[in-house]
Amino acid sequence: MTNIVPALAFSGPQDGCCRLRKLTFMEQVDVVIVGAGAAGLMAAIAAGERGAQVIVLDSQQKIGAKILVAGGGRCNVTNEYVDASRFHGGSSSFIGRVLRAFNMEATHRFFERIGVQLKLEETGKYFPVTDSSRTVLNALLNVVGQAGANLVTEQPVTDIRPRPSTQERDAAAVEWEVQTPSNVWRAKAVVLCTGGLALPKSGSNGAGYGFATRLGHTLVPTTPALTPLLATPTLHAGLSGITLPVRLQLKNGANKLAEYSNSFLFTHVGYSGPAALNLSRHVARERWMHPQAQVGLRLLPQVADGEEGRFWQELVRRESKKSVVNVIAELLPRRVAETVLTEAKVPPAVALGKLSPQQQTGVRQALLDSPLPVSEVAGYTKAEATAGGISLDEIEPATMMSRLVPGLFFAGEIMDVDGWLGGYNFQWAWSSGTVAGRAAARFAARA
Ligand SMILES: Cc1cc2nc3c(=O)[nH]c(=O)nc-3n(C[C@H](O)[C@H](O)[C@H](O)COP(=O)(O)OP(=O)(O)OC[C@H]3O[C@@H](n4cnc5c(N)ncnc54)[C@H](O)[C@@H]3O)c2cc1C
Repeated sequence: MTNIVPALAFSGPQDGCCRLRKLTFMEQVDVVIVGAGAAGLMAAIAAGERGAQVIVLDSQQKIGAKILVAGGGRCNVTNEYVDASRFHGGSSSFIGRVLRAFNMEATHRFFERIGVQLKLEETGKYFPVTDSSRTVLNALLNVVGQAGANLVTEQPVTDIRPRPSTQERDAAAVEWEVQTPSNVWRAKAVVLCTGGLALPKSGSNGAGYGFATRLGHTLVPTTPALTPLLATPTLHAGLSGITLPVRLQLKNGANKLAEYSNSFLFTHVGYSGPAALNLSRHVARERWMHPQAQVGLRLLPQVADGEEGRFWQELVRRESKKSVVNVIAELLPRRVAETVLTEAKVPPAVALGKLSPQQQTGVRQALLDSPLPVSEVAGYTKAEATAGGISLDEIEPATMMSRLVPGLFFAGEIMDVDGWLGGYNFQWAWSSGTVAGRAAARFAARA
């Protein structure tokens, strides 16, 4: 006999709060999606539009928290340049394959279809023309409903169990039980979209890792990603609020571990902005292996490696009579120029041409290769993404189905994939959610 469970289901866009309707009774469904973030909503649409009966369960009362806060409330949906080189984690051929299955153009067409017009900004980032994340969330929720999927809020999943037949890999008899405090939901396929650990107050608390590892999957150790760098001592607190383009490198001795050239922000406690945020996952992870690894700052990113000597000689030749502070203040914000000279222990009023060779070396280094006192990275509460996650080695890239347990699918940040700042993490959620949702619907239809 089929299990029948009562439930509350969402039936329209959220305007500050959920509108819920009472489902009379819920029979066993084809697909249960655990987590209604970007990946879960996308998987629900993909599976529902392929005719599957879909339930999406989320622990939160109000869903879509991360979509709403994303991009400073504007939601950076994707990027002009999407390919696997902008992602870290497991196999880049796996990541590339998933991204190509639902690429940036497909994402663009999808959002047009659901009524979200996107605009491209100079940085390569796409945002909704309304500059409002709410447009994105409401459109996704509308289409979830149109696809026939039921979204059930305040349903924290506590366990996911395959019935014995699944473990014997008898796909024809597959059945999953998804446990919440009030219900047991039954399905032919389950898609795990519970996210990682970033911004835990949004509902992403790592519970999905436990479900997957209990089913035999491997968790690649996690660290915060896209999170500010913290300084000890806070040498540059006086520059807090200043933004400028820089090049940041993480180096272990002469060995370069990672490098980003992008905008950079001094903060009261350390460093932020795209260059620092992108570097943070490397700082957190590389320091396991290389505790001595140092972050180096180039304040003039336009000076290429190997060109430092020529650049400096040319500057001294051209500007020898000007005070050193005025010369540097033509290249950088004045407060930064003054800090450079303090660090190099050079009096600001001295003419550039009058600096001793030792002083010249000090200023040159402070401009082009200054070590930053980065002690650690900010934790998950400040992070925009999670590095590490469920290993891609145990997932089939064409379907996102577990190679270990048939009928179990993955999408989004729960996996060992993290993208650069710039719309890449949502692109991963749209791509992997679509692939997983379609495949879960196919799997359920065959079961
Ligand atoms: C402040 C901030 C800004 C960001 N800005 C951008 C941006 O502009 N562009 C971009 O590309 N990326 C951005 N990101 C990253 C992006 O938001 C994430 O990569 C993306 O939301 C991940 O989607 P997901 O669906 O995999 O996971 P999540 O969005 O984390 O969703 C997981 C869902 O699962 C639910 N859940 C968890 N456990 C359970 C359980 N046991 N039972 C039921 N439900 C559960 C949670 O409540 C949550 O709703 C930002 C992130 C943050 C924190």
